Amino acid sequence: MKNITIVGGGLVGSLLAVFLAKRGHKVNLYERRADPRRTNVYAGRSINLVVSHRGWTALKAAGVNEAVERIVVPVRARMTHDRDGKLTRLPYSIDERAIHSVSRGELNKVMLSEAEKFPNVGLHFEHRCTSVNLETGTCTFHNEATGEASAVPADVVFGSDGAPSAVRQEFMKHRFTFSQTYIEHDYKEIAFAPNPDGTPRMDPHCLHIWPRRWFMMMGLANTDGGFTGTLFMPHEGEFSFDRIKDEDDLKRFFEEHFRDAIPMLPDLAEQYFRNPQSNLAIIRCAPWTYKDKVALIGDAAHAIVPFYGEGMNAGYEDCKVLNDLLNQHGDDNWGTVLDAYHKARKPNGDAIADLSLRNFVEMRDLVADPKFILRKKIEGRLQAKHPDKWLPLYSQVKFSDIGYKTAWDEGLRHDRIMEQVLAMPGIEEKWESEEVERKALGLLKLP
Ligand SMILES: Cc1cc2nc3c(=O)[nH]c(=O)nc-3n(C[C@H](O)[C@H](O)[C@H](O)COP(=O)(O)OP(=O)(O)OC[C@H]3O[C@@H](n4cnc5c(N)ncnc54)[C@H](O)[C@@H]3O)c2cc1C
Repeated sequence: MKNITIVGGGLVGSLLAVFLAKRGHKVNLYERRADPRRTNVYAGRSINLVVSHRGWTALKAAGVNEAVERIVVPVRARMTHDRDGKLTRLPYSIDERAIHSVSRGELNKVMLSEAEKFPNVGLHFEHRCTSVNLETGTCTFHNEATGEASAVPADVVFGSDGAPSAVRQEFMKHRFTFSQTYIEHDYKEIAFAPNPDGTPRMDPHCLHIWPRRWFMMMGLANTDGGFTGTLFMPHEGEFSFDRIKDEDDLKRFFEEHFRDAIPMLPDLAEQYFRNPQSNLAIIRCAPWTYKDKVALIGDAAHAIVPFYGEGMNAGYEDCKVLNDLLNQHGDDNWGTVLDAYHKARKPNGDAIADLSLRNFVEMRDLVADPKFILRKKIEGRLQAKHPDKWLPLYSQVKFSDIGYKTAWDEGLRHDRIMEQVLAMPGIEEKWESEEVERKALGLLKLP
């Protein structure tokens, strides 16, 4: 059994610790921040995430799904809010399947506690990785509390230290391809309070979206009846964080664009000016592994924009695939396992990065577009009648374990088909007809 160092005790590092501990390895997990179960390290940054099917697949494989099930809220549809407060509900699937909303902070706490249950796991908080020797697997940590430095040898090292990964920084000294692209949008957390009796003020089983073309707000339910909202906006320009300088600007902005949300946000100004404005970047790199010693996993390998709600799910799937490869090749064959891990996951990491950018357009813009809604209806009907032939892209990503790359390729084919279907004369009236169905299925047969 190996001595394994995990750098970063966030969402992915903590699940990885469980997988590796179950296999009998000695796991030491080092986290830069203090223990979130003892201090509120997530204050103002406690965004909500959705766990999708592939995330559950990984949690089940690790045997920790029940602990997570206790802290999630099922979400079955999008609910769009237009400027006049008109609501439109769009189910995620024809059979009302759910994704699950969870607070990032709560999930992290639960997963750390699950990892800590194993006697062969050591959790070390306030230990910031400052360097890694990729050849020997020795990491250096700076103890944030005492200021001391320590060198920790290991057989294998995982960098699950998120988008700004210190482990990945070491890869830069070798033959390594890397790109980091910031999008023009930043985000800010805004919490929606529950009613005084603790009941939710909106349907908790919907992801609420205020799509406004160049910017948007969304809200996901918490188990306490409140919602965690996130405002996504360019950092500069006509509609941007830069334009909101004081309470009057903020009030005007919300009255114009998010009027129906105002009664749910009595402390909006306080929250808005207190909570940090964070940026969003896409990181692509290769290779994710160094010989049989070091591997990147989760956001450290593939940070993506959050608009498909798949960053963590992709990281969870990384852990599951790695575990499957260890089952296949054994626990003493790390060169083969890490090589196979990179080959299996890299194309999927790239695909979900592309898919997530595409979903941004869909969320902020298209969900309010009648053509888009019609397309969803036609696809829903095709799926209901021919589930073996037509699985919409969203369902492939959120409700299946189909690889992101396969889903993306199939989704692009669906786009081409639906473009022709939506161009049929009178489609608005005859979308439920046999003729439309025949056309779509006929096009599906073409190469
Ligand atoms: C607004 C927003 C909404 C999102 N919504 C979703 C969603 O709905 N569904 C979804 O699946 N994903 C979502 N994501 C993405 C998700 O948050 C990330 O993909 C996920 O957190 C990645 O987990 P990770 O463990 O790889 O990285 P992180 O969660 O970033 O954890 C990395 C950890 O490493 C620690 N660390 C960093 N540097 C060091 C160091 N030098 N030494 C030691 N420790 C270090 C950090 O303190 C941190 O605890 C969203 C992201 C954002 C920003």
